[in-house]
Order: sequence, then structure tokens, then C-alpha cells
Amino acid sequence: MCDNVVIHNETEMGVDPKLCGIVYEFKQTFEQKYDKRLGEFHVYIKDNGFPYVDSVLISINGLLKPKFNILNISKGYLIEFDAEELKDTIAHEFSHIFNGDNEYKEKKAPILFIYTGLFGIVCCLIGIFKSYIFAAILVILLVFSDIVMYKIYKRELQEMEIRCDEEAISIGRDVKHYLTTLEKLKPYGNPILLIERQDRIRQINK
Ligand SMILES: [Zn+2]
Repeated sequence: MCDNVVIHNETEMGVDPKLCGIVYEFKQTFEQKYDKRLGEFHVYIKDNGFPYVDSVLISINGLLKPKFNILNISKGYLIEFDAEELKDTIAHEFSHIFNGDNEYKEKKAPILFIYTGLFGIVCCLIGIFKSYIFAAILVILLVFSDIVMYKIYKRELQEMEIRCDEEAISIGRDVKHYLTTLEKLKPYGNPILLIERQDRIRQINK
């Protein structure tokens, strides 16, 4: 049973046929929960020895739009992690997809970039035509506002991770097992964030 799930194997190794069934099951659970259909869903098995799973927005037809959420699973992940650990991670990724996190990231990053660019141009113009001191003050303001915005954005991304963990557990992933999956991810991810995620799960599920 894996209707509407298309696996693209970019590696030489064979992929367990059960994989599309696993993805299908979570896709269906989330579709029911959010009353929203994803339609055809694509999973790419990447030829990369580093263990990771992520969901990203891509354009399947090579044009700018429409964009689809897809799941990337690396060869390294399939080698290092077992089926139950993979399920924890896939549940987490579907939470990103159904909450629109990938769309949000795609919009937010250019906004920060454009803001910095425009502000930087204003600083240069003022520096050329008006006063160096005023321009210097503006540059300091720019750097400061960028740091603040970056910190807020980073915090938002961290909160997304925690929300996805909570949701994966709320749809039935076992808390203890989920914690050990995060533990196993530590050498491959941001260990400080992973510790925080574990702490938050423990707090919520006391
Ligand atoms: Zn995540």
C-alpha cells in the first residue's frame, strides 16, 4: 500500500520496498489530521553517506513554480538507522510539511537578505552624500538589527523543531524511543539543539 508515494532511488543500493508503505502511512495520518491532501508525494534517496532526513520545497518540473514538499533520505541514514528510528524522523518531517515550515523558511530568508541589502545601500548613500558619522551609526544599527532578527529567526526555527517533535509523539510515536532516536542523531546534528529538544519532550511528557 503506497499509492501516490514515488520513490526516486539515486543510489546504487537497493531500497527496502517497505519504505514507501511507511511514508504512505504517515502521509495519510497527517492528511486526515489536517484534512488536507498532498497528492503525489516524492521521496528521494540521496547518494550521500552522511545520515540525514529532511523535507524541502522543490519544483519537480524544473520551473520556478509549482513547488512541492519532498522528503530527502540519505543513504547514510538508511544504513545507520533502523525502520523504527526512520519512522520517528519521517513523522517529524511530515509535521514540518503540514505546518508550512518549508514555505515559511523560503519566504523569510530572502526578506532578511533584502532588508540587509537595502539598509546597506542607504548607509552607503548617506556616507557618500551626507555624513560619515551618521553613516557609521546606521551601519552599527544595521548590524545590531540583523543580529536581533537572526536570533529571533533562529529561535523560530528551534521552536518549529520542538513543535514537530511534539506532533510526532502526539500521532503515536513512542516517547522513550523518540528520545533515543534524537540521542543517536547527536553526532550528526546540532547536539545543543538536540539536548534542548530532548529536555522539552521530557518536560511535556512527564
Ligand atoms: Zn525538523
